[in-house]
Amino acid sequence: SGPGSNAGSGIAGSEALLARASAVIPAGVNSPVRAFRAVGGTPRFMASGQGAWLTDVDGNRYVDLICSWGPMILGHAHPDVLRAVEQTAARGFSFGTPSENEVALAEEIVARIDPVEQVRLVNSGTEATMSAIRLARGYTQRDVIVKFSGCYHGHVDALLASAGSGVATFALPDSAGVPRSSAAETIVLPYNDLAAVEAAFAERGHEIAAVITEAAPGNMGVVPPAPGFTEGLRRITREHGALLISDEVMTGFRCSRSGFYGVEGPYAAGPADLFTFGKVMGGGFPTAAFGGRAEVMALLAPAGPVYQAGTLSGNPVASAAGLATLRGCTADVYARLDSAARAIAGAASDALTTASVPHTIQWAGSMFSIFFREGPVRNYDEAKGQDVDAFRRFFHAMLEQGVHLPPSSFEAWFVSAAHDDDAVAHVVDALPAAARAAA
Ligand code: PLP
Repeated sequence: SGPGSNAGSGIAGSEALLARASAVIPAGVNSPVRAFRAVGGTPRFMASGQGAWLTDVDGNRYVDLICSWGPMILGHAHPDVLRAVEQTAARGFSFGTPSENEVALAEEIVARIDPVEQVRLVNSGTEATMSAIRLARGYTQRDVIVKFSGCYHGHVDALLASAGSGVATFALPDSAGVPRSSAAETIVLPYNDLAAVEAAFAERGHEIAAVITEAAPGNMGVVPPAPGFTEGLRRITREHGALLISDEVMTGFRCSRSGFYGVEGPYAAGPADLFTFGKVMGGGFPTAAFGGRAEVMALLAPAGPVYQAGTLSGNPVASAAGLATLRGCTADVYARLDSAARAIAGAASDALTTASVPHTIQWAGSMFSIFFREGPVRNYDEAKGQDVDAFRRFFHAMLEQGVHLPPSSFEAWFVSAAHDDDAVAHVVDALPAAARAAA
């Protein structure tokens, strides 16, 4: 059988690893979405990745449309990134002192986004948003945070809250183990609803430290901000002395050289006050960042009163991988991401239309997702109206033909610059059968 043609190859190796894993790791995975709960079946344990392709432990090959949920923008094991990692690691892994790579990575980020004068490096997107929120609270000396339903900012206590019904409802925790008091400082509002934001600020504006939003949400599927929405957030937060935090963990350095900021911002009312980054800036290694104006960042310890720290923060190997990845993100790379994404999305739409499967495709730059319902999808409630069973059948038909989609219909599909014509053609060839399975 040819590359990615997996019929008959079996998944005994993945099944055995899942059994071993489940004995020592809850549900056998270290992050919930990997367990295939939304689609059923056995998650594939990967042995290697090269360019656009993954190979599992049974030797099945897949065109990768997860790309590690965003970081692998240049493709797997890119030679320039590999070289940077190997050369850096040969000189030591971590010092717990400052070192040069972290400075170069910070310079690279600051050079790309005008309103970001300083960053501090952390180890995950979760840490970035957690720290940005603490900084916003310290800066404004207020406690309440506004977030949007369907926006994911990592597993920070205060951000794991979902909306009750109605405007400006104080949220209940979305996870056991999150204190009510923590979620009680979070107001959850429907995305793309500026009137709800106005109402919340009219009532509690003097208590609100910050509004945090995904620059362009990708965690309920891709739901771009309606024209004027983020601009409105900027205006309202400014009027009330609250900060605006733009979470670019997913969109940063993917939607453009800078991120969604490069697509949309700055707004007439000015840019966001704080930004968070992750994923692409680590090139597949654990590094992330939050940043903004020097005047705000000055409040961080040790100079200021807002504490924040990390044993491995600014890790030299992770910084080298991130730097090599960002430097590799040339104009050609963004052009390739765009053309690969448009080719795959266009063919998917044709196949689903031919099979009479209701769907809509939404974009943020070259980031896209397919909702298994008629569109448009403007918020989380609308995203939840999908036919998740149709997606489940579609997903497994793609997987059997050697295309690994994100195992949930509430996720963006990620491509890399390594998704060449061969990889795209392999995806396109698999689509008609998968669309028929979904119907
Ligand atoms: N913010 C956004 C927008 C994300 O998409 C994610 C992860 O998917 C996070 C924050 C959390 O990042 P991490 O998983 O690195 O903690």
